[in-house]
Amino acid sequence: MDERRKPLIAGNWKMNLDLAGAVSLAREVLLRTASFGSVDVCVLPPFPLIQAVAGVLDGSAVGFGGQDLSKEDEGAYTGDVSAKMLLSLGCQYVCIGHSERREFHLETDESVRLKTGRALTAGLVPIVCVGERLAERDSGDTFMRVERQVTVGMGGLSPDELARVVVAYEPVWAIGTGRTATPAQAQEVHEYIRKLLSRMAGDVIALRMRILYGGSVKPGNARELLAQKDVDGALVGGASLSAESFAGIVECAG
Ligand code: PEP
Repeated sequence: MDERRKPLIAGNWKMNLDLAGAVSLAREVLLRTASFGSVDVCVLPPFPLIQAVAGVLDGSAVGFGGQDLSKEDEGAYTGDVSAKMLLSLGCQYVCIGHSERREFHLETDESVRLKTGRALTAGLVPIVCVGERLAERDSGDTFMRVERQVTVGMGGLSPDELARVVVAYEPVWAIGTGRTATPAQAQEVHEYIRKLLSRMAGDVIALRMRILYGGSVKPGNARELLAQKDVDGALVGGASLSAESFAGIVECAG
């Protein structure tokens, strides 16, 4: 990756762990990653566990955030969580448009755009996920799909707002499947995304923006993926549930 971009390794805990498990994982992650000052690290616990994780991580080098947020500010939206609530718990990050949210909760590029705006207004760093399904890759539609997700999902943002966004490229066929994109496949799409960002925000800002790779990243494949010019970190699912393997990935980024 480019010297000027500090890598970010984000652990998406999804709907795993309970209170005790989350606290103990947060403690272990803190212990094992504290020495990697050249890498930004954060974890994304399930909503009800964020406060307990904050008790461990607040004020430390390990950031934390939500896995989603509401596109609304507040009000009668049962089950939703607002940017303000996340902020009040000390969150710095929020994941938006994860493929599991798109699939199981019918999230669209338009809702991603509204949520990204909410996150930015609140001062949270949005980690906006994009990525094609297997059928789209097989039919040669990867770039078209990703272009739409980037230009609509981050549409209407000013260059200064875009500069605060982290993009995560996660090919859906590589998430939780054990099947990783090759470093060359990842680099090809990351480079394409950076070109789109240049078109939207200019070269200077696009060169500063971080584009993470996600999809079955593990200590064994992270080094090669993170060595790609436009891969600026990783969004990690399964391997983030073990402090040892998560720290192994952080080490590869350092
Ligand atoms: C994810 O959920 O964002 C992810 C990349 O999962 P996994 O690492 O398990 O493929």
